[in-house]
Amino acid sequence: MFPPSAGRHHCATGGHYRRIAMFVCSICGGSTFVDHSILWDQLASEWQLSPDERSYIERQQGTSCTSCGSNLRSIALANAIRAAVGTNLTLTEFVKTPEAGLLSLLEINEAGNLSSILRQLPGHVLATYPSVDMHAMPYSTDSFDLVVHSDTLEHVSNPIPALAECRRVLSPNGTLCLTIPTIVGRLTRSRAGLPKSYHGNAATGSDDLVVHTEFGADMWTYVLRAGFSAVSITSVDFPSALALSARKEKVATRSLGFHPSTTCNTKTPKRIVAVHFPKAGGSSLQSQLLGLLGDSLALDYGHDPLTSAGLETAEFPVGKRGVYGHFSARRYASTDGYWMTFLRDPVDNLISIYYYWKSVTVPGHDLHGRFLREKPSILDFAKYAGVQRLMSETYFGGFDMGRFDFIGFHETRDRDIPRLAAALDLPLSAEVYVNKTEPYTERHIVEDDTSLRRQLADLLADDVAFYERLRN
Ligand SMILES: [Zn+2]
Repeated sequence: MFPPSAGRHHCATGGHYRRIAMFVCSICGGSTFVDHSILWDQLASEWQLSPDERSYIERQQGTSCTSCGSNLRSIALANAIRAAVGTNLTLTEFVKTPEAGLLSLLEINEAGNLSSILRQLPGHVLATYPSVDMHAMPYSTDSFDLVVHSDTLEHVSNPIPALAECRRVLSPNGTLCLTIPTIVGRLTRSRAGLPKSYHGNAATGSDDLVVHTEFGADMWTYVLRAGFSAVSITSVDFPSALALSARKEKVATRSLGFHPSTTCNTKTPKRIVAVHFPKAGGSSLQSQLLGLLGDSLALDYGHDPLTSAGLETAEFPVGKRGVYGHFSARRYASTDGYWMTFLRDPVDNLISIYYYWKSVTVPGHDLHGRFLREKPSILDFAKYAGVQRLMSETYFGGFDMGRFDFIGFHETRDRDIPRLAAALDLPLSAEVYVNKTEPYTERHIVEDDTSLRRQLADLLADDVAFYERLRN
């Protein structure tokens, strides 16, 4: 592997900025790139690179996004990961989604710039040399949805057994995504019997950076020889950056990322009605329940009580274990079941919704459409019909709150989620937290403005009183 800092040592020109129109950074969405020189003459000579080969390996390692610093190799790897999970989001956006919260991912050696992003996944595991030997990893068979390594395989003494070991720990239908520096105009050769060649800082001569294999045009055959039955190659700025991906054949009927349990525990209530009050932590809970209940959890997000579609009542969906969504409690008033919701301090909640609404577009949401047209101040937003009494009227007006079996609070989530887990007899975790609102400096200014908070509390007095009654 080539450490990202290598460019600093070898960059004589200070970098050359250019805009490449053909692609954007799949990690952050940036579109400006800077070239750094990474290779040094001794390595190029050991590797017997022609000037053209040296130039495309330089681009792979040294051409990087000016916004997030990722090089083309990381961008190619991110593309392979995005294809494996089926998302069009940038990788930075994807790791914050509820689906990503359910993925288990093994990263073998830090994958350059991607490492800090992959670490945001709750199911992320990092294996580093020498404590973990890629030929015999300390993980159970079928345990990861994704296995990722970047420019590691050339340093492994036996690449085929190492790839077979990656396949073993993958779940059925899980995907291996990897990069290796590849010279596309020649075949792979072993460096056994040749003088030692190192990536990274040659002066330190650290043996984990010694190159065992120089990969060439047949690098894909190693993946098939390791037991995979298909392999695909993703390229950015060919032939600079290639990423390989291979899916482990599906032998069971489960989809990537979701682990619906086939049987609920006997204590789990027959019918769950979960009112997802917006911006109070409901998305994280929803993604966990979806993972545990799978298809037996119905989602109802088409009757947001802040839209004109929010007035219809409904019967509990036939054949389902639970219903979860943005709806007014009145909608399922005829259902006897386990009623649950999470709430949040109305002032904090309104601030969160206001900045969330500024950052998204919600097709077909009439009130959000008005919000985008009018661009209200936060105080004017607090006066919107439906918003001013969001809790006491819009979501819960005319409903007997005594019917709720469980009311949790965003502020005490760490102890409320375990309480809910015990009541439902489901392994819910307070650690899983999907924050769908981007950090927004302006929002933090508002949160710290005590005079503005007081004005908001006055405007939201009915909700504040409603909330305080439930908390006590
Ligand atoms: Zn970027």
